[in-house]
Amino acid sequence: MAVVIDQENCIGCGVCEGVYPDLFEMASDGKAKVKNLSNYDASLAQDAASQCPVNAITVS
Ligand code: SF4
Repeated sequence: MAVVIDQENCIGCGVCEGVYPDLFEMASDGKAKVKNLSNYDASLAQDAASQCPVNAITVS
């Protein structure tokens, strides 16, 4: 499985980090980044993706 953030579309709202701070973090450029986890909770990742206001998160 993989989690990808569309850096062009991300508006830096921080919602994903709020939902799943172990996986998402806000970088100095104001965009969200995916941390390098060997295991992650796909359900939480999906929650974050569904709450992203610009649909910038893809969980596959
Ligand atoms: S929820 Fe979406 S728009 Fe907001 S910081 Fe995360 S990826 Fe970016």
